[in-house]
Amino acid sequence: MVAVTDDALRRLPKAELHLHLDGSLRPATVEELAREVGVVAGDAPQGAAMARVRVTRRAGLLEALQGFEVLLPLLQTKEHLARVTTELVEDLAADGVVYSELRFCPRLNTGQGLTIDEVLATVGEAAAQAEAATGTRVVLLACLMGGVDPDWNRPVLEAAIRRMDSGVVGVDLAGPVEGRTPAWVDAHAAMFEHARASGLCVTVHAGEAEPPSAIRTALDRYLADRIGHATSLAEDPDLLAEVVERRVVLECCPRSNYWTRTAEELPELSAHPVGRLLDAGARVCLNTDDRSLFGNDLSSEYRVVAEAFGLDDRQVAALTANGFAGAFHPGRAAAALERAVGRLEDSG
Ligand SMILES: [Zn+2]
Repeated sequence: MVAVTDDALRRLPKAELHLHLDGSLRPATVEELAREVGVVAGDAPQGAAMARVRVTRRAGLLEALQGFEVLLPLLQTKEHLARVTTELVEDLAADGVVYSELRFCPRLNTGQGLTIDEVLATVGEAAAQAEAATGTRVVLLACLMGGVDPDWNRPVLEAAIRRMDSGVVGVDLAGPVEGRTPAWVDAHAAMFEHARASGLCVTVHAGEAEPPSAIRTALDRYLADRIGHATSLAEDPDLLAEVVERRVVLECCPRSNYWTRTAEELPELSAHPVGRLLDAGARVCLNTDDRSLFGNDLSSEYRVVAEAFGLDDRQVAALTANGFAGAFHPGRAAAALERAVGRLEDSG
């Protein structure tokens, strides 16, 4: 096995498809903005805000997601949204990510009077400027949320359709999995059908802390092009075989799962089902999910997964290829890859 070093992985052109904008702020920005908006006291010790964001013990998904209670109040103005978007794209470029899809639920950024359209336009404009400055291609995904009434999600979908000119290429379903009654599923199935008819792609968080039946619902009812996490997929061999056969791209987030699962659920990273998914021939790509929560970047994500599963450089390259193959904007992903390869060749 060829050693896959951090430096080599950083230079390797990568695509990141599963990345939450609102979970991926720089630590220094979290500290600064948390004081500015009063989430922590002005004289709180340095690190006080990130101490409530970074996941440092494995106590389950609900506790891990409490960090968003600190992060979301920091993303309620155009200025803050633009800044965080710019910084994330800069960080992606430094991480060797040349194509990325940033996801967030824009309705969660309307607490101080912004409209959903304004949120999408602000992030889209900042992303386009950062793209021009860094060369990293960026598109947006709008998240519909679990745990809310379908009527709460409907305006998010409508705004996403209106804002395709701001770089929105798809919709996601994220958030709490409780309370998804048959009527709720029916209502969202209709929304995802409308999304697809309008030209948007669909990805769905499914099987992260749920049985494989959630992945079945995502594929059959929500018409998902890709599946986010798919952690429980290996528990259903028939469904796994179907996913492999249909060449569905799986947005795996192993270190996120490591931190959001208890030690009983996932003893160590090498026990993560991504190994079984790869063995079965599934189209897996790697992702960080929420960089503020997990303290990761994509280069190190590739390294720890390569180490945990003994992947060689050919297998790592296959994982990165799946990231590009799963892109919801194939033209931009291809252009990003072409430019990156050209630069590698120029630098000898
Ligand atoms: Zn996610």
